[in-house]
Amino acid sequence: MSTSEDQSINQVHDVIIIGAGPCGLAIAARLRETTPSALFTDAEHQRYHWIQKHKRRTRMVPTKGRATNKVLDDHGERNNRPSTLGNCEGTQYSIVVLDSFSDSWMAKWKALFRALEIRNLRSPLFFHPDPADRDGLKGWANSQGREREMVELKGVVSKELSKHRVKSERKKRVMQGPRGKSIDERDKQDYFTPSTGLFNDFCLNCTEPNKLNGLILHAHASAIHFNKEDSNGEMGGLFTVETSSGNQHARSIVLAVGTGIPTGISSKEEESIGSCHSSDLLKQNALAPQVQQKINAKADTAVIVIGGGFTSAQIVDLCICEGVSRVWHIMRGHFKVKHFDLDLSWVAKYKNVNMSAFWMAGTDEERLEMLQTARNGGSINPSYKAILYAHERRGRLRRYTQTRVITKDWDAKSKTWKVMTEPPIPNLPAIDYIYFATGTSADVHNMPLLEPSLKRYPIPTISGLPCQTDDMQWSSEVPLFATGRLAELRLGPGAANLEGARVSAERITWRLQERLGQRVADKDDATRYCSAERLNDLQERSNSEWIHLNMYNALYEV
Ligand SMILES: Cc1cc2nc3c(=O)[nH]c(=O)nc-3n(C[C@H](O)[C@H](O)[C@H](O)COP(=O)(O)OP(=O)(O)OC[C@H]3O[C@@H](n4cnc5c(N)ncnc54)[C@H](O)[C@@H]3O)c2cc1C
Repeated sequence: MSTSEDQSINQVHDVIIIGAGPCGLAIAARLRETTPSALFTDAEHQRYHWIQKHKRRTRMVPTKGRATNKVLDDHGERNNRPSTLGNCEGTQYSIVVLDSFSDSWMAKWKALFRALEIRNLRSPLFFHPDPADRDGLKGWANSQGREREMVELKGVVSKELSKHRVKSERKKRVMQGPRGKSIDERDKQDYFTPSTGLFNDFCLNCTEPNKLNGLILHAHASAIHFNKEDSNGEMGGLFTVETSSGNQHARSIVLAVGTGIPTGISSKEEESIGSCHSSDLLKQNALAPQVQQKINAKADTAVIVIGGGFTSAQIVDLCICEGVSRVWHIMRGHFKVKHFDLDLSWVAKYKNVNMSAFWMAGTDEERLEMLQTARNGGSINPSYKAILYAHERRGRLRRYTQTRVITKDWDAKSKTWKVMTEPPIPNLPAIDYIYFATGTSADVHNMPLLEPSLKRYPIPTISGLPCQTDDMQWSSEVPLFATGRLAELRLGPGAANLEGARVSAERITWRLQERLGQRVADKDDATRYCSAERLNDLQERSNSEWIHLNMYNALYEV
């Protein structure tokens, strides 16, 4: 064990983050960020909440409804520059991050993208974990001369309609039913998607100014225990986390453990040679050895991919590109094509309409219903639709919707499956391999890590999701926070994706700051990573392009 691991084990940390994926990174970056502004202007709800929270320490520029980039200085005079005072002193909580996959940020995410050969993200540019700037990814890509790695999402943005056209469209819609909101041309700049390399490099870049490298311990967390009083008998509570490299202690915990447990897979071990869940592709080659052998011998191969989501489409494409002769793509629902895994009405600027309905829902049961409607099962994006159609035209792919696999028998001798479906698929041959791209289920009752906490401090759950406090805590007395998919009942349907990562980081940090108090960074650190240079850079960018700086600019801590 290294000295740093040794020291870390004996220390009581302010925060332990379990999981070094995008959600874990968003939390760590936000805890170390001195000028968070990535969220405030893009969602009015958060803006309002933030102003409410800071109004005593903040003086506002009276704008009479106009946007302004001016702030009040010490004497109440207007000033054109964002303040570099007060807010610039970063909080230096002691943080340790545990990850069972690796000791570097987002290693599992990167491995998955590599395994599935994903070249571009599905989400738009403003979905990223950096709390400093909503448009940070776009700005960074431009500053690095990597504009070409941002690919336009065609068909998302529609030209702004004239008043007359809007009227006639509205009339038509009464006849045809609602068609959902389109995004107007002015927001076009947002609807590009980054290449995988660009996104990963940007995230790596976020870890540097906030000094997040070196926080991660490569260790699997197996159980979380909480005592309301610490060993000195002081209230406030102390967590002990059992890990594969010893116990860790902290005053608060943030769970950022990802999307849950694979669903729909075969439980018989001897069958695992002929099937896998999509998440297993992290540990094995895309093609099983027996399939690869047949391809090498130029024999015919047949595989089934089950699932109608994005991952299923990626696996279909991967198999065909690697030489599988024919693929049967089977899904129990319809074949749905959407730009994002959520409807645009949950992604674009209009999302606040839906989000306010979500927050105002009377019960968590209602929220769950809204989550299910918003996700509406798996979907693929238009570019993968084009890829799949091309494979179909070449006779390599057959798609069966509203179809279920009802039995599958593994023949160990021929190493093939005999598969029956409902409704039956005519002439389905012996199948060499089955991929289950059937998603994951987030259920706290199936997480051994949470067993001790559930036993001692039970929490109500709905469909396995914890009913957290509004601050995303386990309960008011247990400062165990959960982000990502587990936080869906508080964050809405975007919780499990990159946008949710940033929103939850914001909310959790507010609560953590209340609990732990503000801790001021040493002056050198504060000046280094909160330099006026960085603020000037943001200011310049705000002058040259439409950028979300209003909140930071409009507020000045006195
Ligand atoms: C193929 C694919 C493509 C996707 N593309 C997009 C996209 O383009 N845009 C988008 O917004 N979303 C996308 N998503 C959704 C994506 O999963 C989330 O955006 C993101 O991964 C969620 O981050 P996370 O940190 O919650 O989980 P993860 O990325 O899964 O990270 C969780 C981390 O926790 C660690 N961990 C888990 N349990 C333990 C434990 N007990 N002890 C220690 N460490 C533990 C894991 O090792 C892992 O590193 C995609 C998902 C998939 C599967």
